[in-house]
Amino acid sequence: MEWITHTATGFFIGQAMVKPEERPRRAGIWWMAASVCPDWLEVLTTWFGDIHRGVTHSLYMWPILALIWAAAARRWGGQGVASLQKLWLTFFAVIGSHLLLDIMMSYRLYFAWPFSNANGAWGIMPFYDLYIFVAWLLLLAINRWRKWPSVMTAKVGLAIFLVMFSLRAMGKVRTKDLAENMIASTTEQIETRPTYYQPWILYARSSRTLPDWTPINAITGDRVSPDQIISRWFPPIRWRSFFHHGGRG
Ligand SMILES: [Zn+2]
Repeated sequence: MEWITHTATGFFIGQAMVKPEERPRRAGIWWMAASVCPDWLEVLTTWFGDIHRGVTHSLYMWPILALIWAAAARRWGGQGVASLQKLWLTFFAVIGSHLLLDIMMSYRLYFAWPFSNANGAWGIMPFYDLYIFVAWLLLLAINRWRKWPSVMTAKVGLAIFLVMFSLRAMGKVRTKDLAENMIASTTEQIETRPTYYQPWILYARSSRTLPDWTPINAITGDRVSPDQIISRWFPPIRWRSFFHHGGRG
């Protein structure tokens, strides 16, 4: 995931979890720097031969990085910062958001590299997500205008993210259903429409059987074949290879 989404998510998590009086000085910078640390540390580790999304994105490094950040914020964060445990939990959530956002893309994460080859990718989000950016910009504008407290703004920011995330997860499931039906040529009705946020991915739903649904040519009396209808609705996407490679973005 690109850094605007990483830093904004990390920022909102940090602000939502720690009360203003317990935050380290320049708290926003702490949260944002931690939220992208797996990526900038990767610049170093790949120099020593690490792979993309290897050690720095592994599950065993996650609590360790959170501890280093928490200790640093205790040491240099100024007077009255939260306890080490609370800061650790916050940085754990902030760095966790990085891993979660990365695994939502199609490029794989290596969970215990180099000790294991286990890896995974969900492929529900593109690299850039304009709709989230626009929603967050609106949130910041409202925040300026209404002077919302930072904890509340942060919670709304996270809620926006969760809504987008759920829409994408649903879109993925439905598109998969559609592709499976098309490949298996079942007699289910396939109803689709482009998602508003990612037009090349389609919502799909199958319910009634084809005869209920396929239109009849008014002149010849023939039923229009489902292939014709589908090809009219879809650009020629090679669904099989599309799904085997987890889509784009
Ligand atoms: Zn990353």
